[in-house]
Amino acid sequence: MSYEGVIEQSIAGLKELLKSGEEIIGYIYPHVPLELFMAHGFTPSLVRALPGVASGFEESLQTFACSYIRNLYSQRANGQFLTLAGLLFPGNTCDSLQNLGDIWSVRFHDDRVLRLTYPVIRYNQDDSATKFLAEEIRLLSEKLSKLYNRPFLAENYDAAVDFVQEFHNGTQFLYSARVIQPEIISYSEVVRLVRTFLTIPTASSMSEIKETVSMVQNKADELGLSDSIETVQKAILSGDYTKVKLPDDLVSPRIVIAGGMVEPQAIASLMNEIPNFSESFIVLDLLSFGFKTVFTKSPTKSDDPFIAMAKSVLSAPGEPTHEGLSYRMNAMKDLLENLSIQGLIVCEQSFCDPDQFEAPSIEKAACELDVRTIRLPLDPELSDRGRIETRIQSFLETLE
Ligand code: SF4
Repeated sequence: MSYEGVIEQSIAGLKELLKSGEEIIGYIYPHVPLELFMAHGFTPSLVRALPGVASGFEESLQTFACSYIRNLYSQRANGQFLTLAGLLFPGNTCDSLQNLGDIWSVRFHDDRVLRLTYPVIRYNQDDSATKFLAEEIRLLSEKLSKLYNRPFLAENYDAAVDFVQEFHNGTQFLYSARVIQPEIISYSEVVRLVRTFLTIPTASSMSEIKETVSMVQNKADELGLSDSIETVQKAILSGDYTKVKLPDDLVSPRIVIAGGMVEPQAIASLMNEIPNFSESFIVLDLLSFGFKTVFTKSPTKSDDPFIAMAKSVLSAPGEPTHEGLSYRMNAMKDLLENLSIQGLIVCEQSFCDPDQFEAPSIEKAACELDVRTIRLPLDPELSDRGRIETRIQSFLETLE
């Protein structure tokens, strides 16, 4: 399915949900406690930048605002946003999102703007980050109860933990299967499933994931790859790659896509336009809307729910708000080295400070392993598409 087709399908699904009376809370930063909204009886939906959005209202934003949030703001100002029960903005992640949240509440008085503030302390250093975020989540929970008169229901929370865990388990399996054999399922299909679930986390999007997992599982069993896939999944979650054994007949080149809030589906569509490019070359992405969300650990039911949700949110791998730079670079080097990666495409959202801060360190870390890299500045409209495609093509030639 084309990128545009996937977007249309997601929007149509969202409209159906609204028509059926579901109350939807949108969120922009992907690492949020989905279980919290479900416990209060809401459907959380990841709101994203869209290609082809006409801008013209950007003068309200600060000059440092990135192309991603300019796109979101223009969607709202153009009337392209669906009516949501509320919209959650993060605090303490980046200046652009802070600015967007501030301006949104001033310009769009009727929208219910919610905030969740994140700690800026490396996870695992001590438990102060977890305690801080747990308290923020508890305050958000109180606000949801008061504002909408919808209390936090323990039975809803328990069901939500199981439901979201199924999403993580299933999509982690699909990502890991592609590491062992990228041809087993296309990258576009995996990221389409992830996107659909994050936009409309319903039983039907979950059952599509389960059917695909079962199909890939059968193929893997026939090929004798199931154990290797399980080993990769455990290795990525634990950071210990000692038991990983890759097959001898790997397709080459093996490429990883690194970056932050870049749309995986847009990357797949871009790559598919390039002559001689095969989706099997993309072994893995390390993007916020892909890998970092998929490999987030689920809350454990034995913990207090707010502590458990905070731990879960902070477990998103490679997330700058949660982990220090050297920790992230070492984790990425382990992954590149042990998964036999030859090329790294570093995507940078235009005018994104976090991406631009991170990219030189990623390049340096990859260079230490002799992994070739290319930096690609992108915007949600892929406005420089022709030039980007040419650069990727030249990059592929260097890998060959
Ligand atoms: S793309 Fe970068 S600057 Fe823009 S909202 Fe995301 S992290 Fe912030």
